[in-house]
Amino acid sequence: MEVTFQMSDVKSIAVIGAGTMGSGIALTAASSGFNTRLIDINQEQVQRARGYHAKTLDRNVEKERMTREEADATLARIEYQDSIASASGSDWGIEAATENIEVKKQLFAAMADALDPGAVLATNTSSISITDIAASVPSASDRVIGMHFFNPVPVMKLVEVINGLQTSPETTERTIALAESMGKSPIPANDRAGFVSNRVLMPMINEAFYAWMEGVAEPEAIDGIMKLGCNFPMGPLRLADFIGLDVCYHIMMVLHGELGDQKYFPCPKLHQLVTAGRLGNKTGAGVYDYDK
Ligand code: NAD
Repeated sequence: MEVTFQMSDVKSIAVIGAGTMGSGIALTAASSGFNTRLIDINQEQVQRARGYHAKTLDRNVEKERMTREEADATLARIEYQDSIASASGSDWGIEAATENIEVKKQLFAAMADALDPGAVLATNTSSISITDIAASVPSASDRVIGMHFFNPVPVMKLVEVINGLQTSPETTERTIALAESMGKSPIPANDRAGFVSNRVLMPMINEAFYAWMEGVAEPEAIDGIMKLGCNFPMGPLRLADFIGLDVCYHIMMVLHGELGDQKYFPCPKLHQLVTAGRLGNKTGAGVYDYDK
């Protein structure tokens, strides 16, 4: 079925979760011309996201990537909210909350109630089964889909698009069209834990933590070797800090739970840092220390 998609078909996109990913998705949506609502139960996160948006847009003006008027109009397209009820009237939802199946199931039930009937309900999950999330909203399961953006969202081109068993062809077509209208390159993957990206990436990150823990090399050397030797733009430990060590940990737990292989079980060194609250760039310290 061919779906003719126009931006004017989307009244408003509700992005749920204003952390690393949600804040980036909201900025990208608003920069692409969509009315956007960014919602998080944590007010501090909402304020942090607003500050990040203002700063990023100011920098774009300074660098002459956009005019002051365009930057102001982009910011004006984003509403900042602290309750899912404020998604009422939105006809597209993108969930980017904590990587936890119970949190996501509760959120999808609330999204199905709050958003317009017929709204696409997308999740930015890194690893959790789309079929499982969709099963938590039986009346809307054909409208649930994986729309997996990459960090930093305004820069990274890929959106992995994952159908659940119940996802309708129309939902897939519309999601691909929306991703393209946000300047992204959608690529499909099937609904197995971690899809393609994290199935391949997380074992490498985990192995880098083992190499560090076993004294094969210090983090700078591990990252330096992988950058220069494999032509990676960023070494695996720095990338883990950038993703969020808690996010990596949760993804590995899902991979291990679903696929069963011990190779996916998070390295104790990673677990230790997460337990200590060293979650990476977002908390100012992870494998490395960062200026807040
Ligand atoms: P994060 O920890 O930075 O942010 C998560 C946000 O969700 C927090 O602000 C939290 O307050 C909010 N939240 C939790 N429960 C909520 C609820 N019930 N309602 C509203 N908000 C709620 O996490 P993140 O890195 O932005 O990851 C979000 C999702 O995106 C996860 O599913 C993750 O796996 C996925 N993801 C992360 C990356 C990455 O590089 N960090 C990349 C792709 C996908």
